[in-house]
Amino acid sequence: MYPFFHSLPEISLDDAILRENLQAWKTRTRVHVRAVVKANGYGFGLARIARALDGAADGFVVSDASGLQRLRAISHAPAATLLDLGPEHAVRVITLGGIPNIVHRESLAVLAARADASSLIVRVGLRLAAGWSAIDIADAPAYATVLAKAGMRVELWTHLTNATTDRADRERFGRFVAIFRERGVDVIGEDFESTAPAASGHAHGTAVRIGVGLFGGDGLACAIGVKARIIDRLRSDGTLRASYGAAVLPEGTDVLVVRCGYSDGFPRVTRPYRRVLSVGMQNTVIRGTDDGASFALLRADDDLDALALAAGILPHQIVTGLGLAFQRQTAD
Ligand SMILES: *Cc1c(COP(=O)(O)O)cnc(C)c1O
Repeated sequence: MYPFFHSLPEISLDDAILRENLQAWKTRTRVHVRAVVKANGYGFGLARIARALDGAADGFVVSDASGLQRLRAISHAPAATLLDLGPEHAVRVITLGGIPNIVHRESLAVLAARADASSLIVRVGLRLAAGWSAIDIADAPAYATVLAKAGMRVELWTHLTNATTDRADRERFGRFVAIFRERGVDVIGEDFESTAPAASGHAHGTAVRIGVGLFGGDGLACAIGVKARIIDRLRSDGTLRASYGAAVLPEGTDVLVVRCGYSDGFPRVTRPYRRVLSVGMQNTVIRGTDDGASFALLRADDDLDALALAAGILPHQIVTGLGLAFQRQTAD
């Protein structure tokens, strides 16, 4: 039964769909799939997502040692970190059995000086844009020399995100990898794709890092469900509008008013999406009729990419917005 103790929309997450989507990425890319659970599992809870995907994912990606510590309560799968917060952080990541991402020279120096350096695995990324924790190609020779001497095993990565620059960026990444190999570094992995480039079917390296694509989009089922209580049924008399200033609904048009809006994490669409005519702060207007007590605003056959397009935002924003609302709901 749908609980009517309060009027908040019911947000759900389908673990089986998450697992199916992960499997679909494995089948499509034919490389290892690491599930990105940063930002508290895209808002839905790192532990929740990790539990759903443990055993299915080839590994995980977390922001930092704090995320890694939470992951380790659930999974001992390979886990890479995204940030370098200094040498003590890098050591903490190693202690937790994770793969630290090395950006700062001090972190590199501290790990390279360890007695067990030759048994360590670290990551080094090529920075293609500001805002990522990675190094410039000009620094690659110096890092490669230290890594080779210490005998560390290294995963090299970058973040291809933009189809228009991907070609040049892939070539740049190829040169980056060559610098490490030429200096004798034991390069054990190359990963450079998140959801969007992996979906467009480029070269795949040895692993991909999938975050938003676990939840849906790209022709996959939507793992997130949103059910909203129907609070009104209206028929236009020829003057009714869908929302503020929106076009008048022709006479005889049936609409439902449902209790879910952008303050509940549902995106405010700026063009029509399926039966959604307009999304207000708390209420949404749906074209047509429905006999039920609630209306499914989002369900397995929804397309997160199409919804993001209609809302003029990234699917990531939809997922994290609903994730926050999901946390709020489960915290109640
Ligand atoms: C967030 C992130 C990802 C996952 O991106 P999606 O578009 O959600 O698949 C992959 N790699 C890095 C470096 C990231 O920061």
